[in-house]
Amino acid sequence: MGVTEPGTEYAVDAEWLAERARMPDHCARHGAPSVQRVAFDLQSRPPKERASVVNTNALTTYARMADWGSRVRITKVRDWPLCASCVRTRRSWRLLSRVLGYGGLGLILLAIVLRLVLGEAVPELAIPLVVGVLLGIAAPFAFARAGLARLVGARTSADGAKVILRDPHPAFRDVLVR
Ligand SMILES: [Zn+2]
Repeated sequence: MGVTEPGTEYAVDAEWLAERARMPDHCARHGAPSVQRVAFDLQSRPPKERASVVNTNALTTYARMADWGSRVRITKVRDWPLCASCVRTRRSWRLLSRVLGYGGLGLILLAIVLRLVLGEAVPELAIPLVVGVLLGIAAPFAFARAGLARLVGARTSADGAKVILRDPHPAFRDVLVR
């Protein structure tokens, strides 16, 4: 069983993948046995046309967005295998995003409450406020890392016709790619 070169991508037909009754029994990242099956949507990102400076008004912008939206293709993936390590990674990123999000909110509220209790603006109150805002800014990044598409290394081609697997483990790849 050969090791896939880092950065190697494999394209499989999106419709074929979505309709597949049976997915591999090993995860795409580590090639370890699946402990959980997940379903998720892969959304294609059609290229956006450059807005021309002459022709920019609300109506054409709206029309362009609507056109872009109509070209987005969703591939519904089912029964995708996750190993124990994948499940743990996903759980950790989710937990971190929650800690950052609620922690940030808590610090901001704390700063506001302290300001009210003290009845005057104290420079030190800027610390929980700034840290709180920074945590709030960081939270969505952690949340994005918990996303399944990112976790398993799958995305669709720009037109949505293909699902592209990045660095799939041979144990996973060899079932789908021939
Ligand atoms: Zn895994």
